[in-house]
Amino acid sequence: MDPSTLDPRTRSALKDAIRTIPDYPKPGILFRDITTLLGDARAFRRAVDELVHPFAGGRIDQVAGIEARGFILGGAIAHQLSSGFVPIRKKGKLPHTTVSIAYALEYGTDEMEIHSDAVKPGDRVILVDDLIATGGTATAAVELLRRIGAEVVAACFVIDLPELGGADRLRALDLPVRTLIEFEGH
Ligand code: AMP
Repeated sequence: MDPSTLDPRTRSALKDAIRTIPDYPKPGILFRDITTLLGDARAFRRAVDELVHPFAGGRIDQVAGIEARGFILGGAIAHQLSSGFVPIRKKGKLPHTTVSIAYALEYGTDEMEIHSDAVKPGDRVILVDDLIATGGTATAAVELLRRIGAEVVAACFVIDLPELGGADRLRALDLPVRTLIEFEGH
């Protein structure tokens, strides 16, 4: 399910649709901005179609998206797969009973939450975000989903930063990972 399964023209069209902002949000970071991809109708559709491709025809009960860019992609993917959508949000944003998890950031920690009744036990769920870097965010999201009884069947990202090892970290949890394009560095 890695980017090598995409034809090279699709891969370069998606790559071209992403804008890179140097030194945002802090010096040394190359921020991969997907708002340009979302604003490009062909690229947006292509990205969603390619992300769902391995799952079309299978049973996916819920798509879980990580706040905030994972909501946009996850909503479109859920529609395409005729699945429900489950938000994973920053602490304090969800109104009902939640399960929460702390996870490490580059400096310090953060917390994310999911509604404790967001899935039924055994629901087949795919996790979606725009980008995987170290995998800290996605690993915590998988843990939350498993805690509430989900069977996490895969994780999907438009962008992989392979040097940071996040996709491999998820694969080490026995989770298939679907990514579309890669960028060097972080
Ligand atoms: P990580 O937990 O290190 O895998 O970081 C993934 C999260 O941080 C995702 O929600 C991304 O949207 C965001 N992120 C990390 N690095 C970048 C980057 N270079 N450009 C854009 N977003 C990033």
